[in-house]
Order: sequence, then structure tokens, then C-alpha cells
Amino acid sequence: MATLSAERRLITLQRSMLTCERCAALVRCRSRVVPGAGAIDAAVAFVGIAPGRFGGDRTGVPFSGDRSGNLLRDMIAAAGLRSVFITNLVRCNPRDAQGRNRDPTTAEITNCRGHLEAELALIRPKLVACLGRIVWSCLAGSRAEFDPTAAQVVQAGRWRLYPMYHPAYVNRGAYSLKKYARDFDRLRRAAAAMRDPGR
Ligand code: SF4
Repeated sequence: MATLSAERRLITLQRSMLTCERCAALVRCRSRVVPGAGAIDAAVAFVGIAPGRFGGDRTGVPFSGDRSGNLLRDMIAAAGLRSVFITNLVRCNPRDAQGRNRDPTTAEITNCRGHLEAELALIRPKLVACLGRIVWSCLAGSRAEFDPTAAQVVQAGRWRLYPMYHPAYVNRGAYSLKKYARDFDRLRRAAAAMRDPGR
């Protein structure tokens, strides 16, 4: 019953995000608002930067339909992570003047922080896997070392944060697929060893 209630609250919460217009520049370039998606009782919540123009902005689902999404989902499946939630720092696709993906501004990330916090407060994951240095710095703080090869859990407020490379970093050859698969396996084991945060 409690799970059903959480599902309903998540649906209501995410419906309210669909009309958000806090970021004027993103309202102009986005195709849609892209809330997080996945299991309400997810053990791991993955947080990326923003929906991509060929991915979430087109499909409406974070990390789907593009190379980053395909790699992330392949790695999740290969590691046997069955219960995950996938979301982003911002829910709208940021583009530059040429229509290419750009990083969100600090103000845009701040504007969307409430949406992210609200999603995570309902999901209550054991671990929040931060995909890339930008996400890590935003959630763990700029002084926290970003080292996915050591992958130490950092407690930030109520969240246990876990550093991971962004799939785009791996797709461009900066990190090997073999090591990335190892990191996902380590993440699964770390989540399994974590106490449930008390859903
Ligand atoms: S990025 Fe977030 S805060 Fe900004 S307009 Fe989109 S949903 Fe609203």
C-alpha cells in the first residue's frame, strides 16, 4: 500500500514538472520536460546532467534512444542491477546557438534542484550514482574528489553519493568498456551491502 502511494505521489510530482518554466532559455529550446524514470523502490538512482537532444529530449525518457543511454542501460543490465531510477540534474535539454547540446548553467541546475530532490525523496535509493564530474561536484561539493576508480561513498545530507564516469566519456574512448563494466559490478555490490534507508 505504501509503495502504491509513493507511485501515485511520484506521478503527481512529475506531472507538475511538465509545465515548469523556471529556465527561460531551456523553455525555448526543449522539446519537452523529461522527468526521471524507473522503479519507485530503486536501490540505485543514476543522476546524469541533462536530457540529450537525440535522447531524452526526443523520447521523453532519460538516457534512452542515444549512445549514452544505450551504454548506460547495457551496463545496468550486464551488472544485474534490477531496480534502478534514472534522472538528471536538469529536466530540459540545453542547447547552444547552433542547436548542439551544451552543459546547463549553474542557475539552471539550481532552478531544477528542487525537482531532483523531490524525486529522490520519494525513491529513497540506497545509493545515488553521479554520472560524471559535473554531477558529482553539484551533489558532493566542489571539494570532494571525483575518483570513480576508487568509488568511495560520500554522505551528502541524506544521500549516499557514488562517483561513476558518464557514459559519453566512455563512448568517446576516454575509459575502457572493460573497466566501466567492472565499475558497475562494484556499484551493484556496494548497493547490496548498504542498509535500506527506511522506506
Ligand atoms: S530545467 Fe528544470 S527548472 Fe528548468 S525549466 Fe526545465 S524542469 Fe524547469
